[in-house]
Amino acid sequence: MVNLQMVAAWLRALQRVYAENREELTRLDADIGDGDHGINMDRGFTAVAAELDGGTPASIGQALKAAAMTLLRTVGGAAGPLYGTFFLRAASAAEGKESLGPGELAALFRLGLEGVKQRGQAQVGDKTMVDCLQPAVEALEQAASAGRDLQAVLAAGEAAAEAGARATVPLVARKGRASYLGERSIGHQDPGATSAWLLLRTARESWTGESSGNSAPGAAARHSEAGR
Ligand code: ADP
Ligand code: MG
Repeated sequence: MVNLQMVAAWLRALQRVYAENREELTRLDADIGDGDHGINMDRGFTAVAAELDGGTPASIGQALKAAAMTLLRTVGGAAGPLYGTFFLRAASAAEGKESLGPGELAALFRLGLEGVKQRGQAQVGDKTMVDCLQPAVEALEQAASAGRDLQAVLAAGEAAAEAGARATVPLVARKGRASYLGERSIGHQDPGATSAWLLLRTARESWTGESSGNSAPGAAARHSEAGR
């Protein structure tokens, strides 16, 4: 079960992870956008962590809602409102709950995903964070309904998130700034799909206490560029 303390630990870990991957995410965004995605995510989660330093929220719902409001306030661009919406919907899924089991976590990520899709109007295949989040949510749901334990459910979600992020490389961007490039967006891994993968990876690491060996999130994109 995931409790308030674990949710707070996840949010704090995201601050570290986005700081560590700031250059990588920014480089991916420089390829097909305006080169600010790493800066945006780092700024947002630094503010989320600072807020947690000011005092632990009263509940999981409160923690997620506070994170959402902070992201909406501090992260500009497309990703701020999208991740803000993700956490706001996730907060509503957690409302009134003191801990979350695998099925409840899958439902929480599902609501977050649906919020992102509603706000951004992107579908799988449009080369956005939805290409990571949707297969990840489906994997979480499948593993949870198969009765797998928390660790196995989170591992399934992370694996699908990674595959989804890497699968954006050959796609043509149809939403957001990258869509201005048309066919020239082919061959690059989407920065938002990559930050969404880190969201899932960090959830597993924070909630199971296991590290993943930290493969570089943009490695597939570099590899495919070198191969062209
Ligand atoms: P901006 O594009 O405004 O500079 P960021 O660089 O922070 O914002 O975020 C870019 C990421 O946002 C993209 O890589 C993509 O994954 C995501 N994104 C952009 N538009 C949408 C959308 N309509 N729906 C879902 N995700 C989107
Ligand atoms: Mg950008």
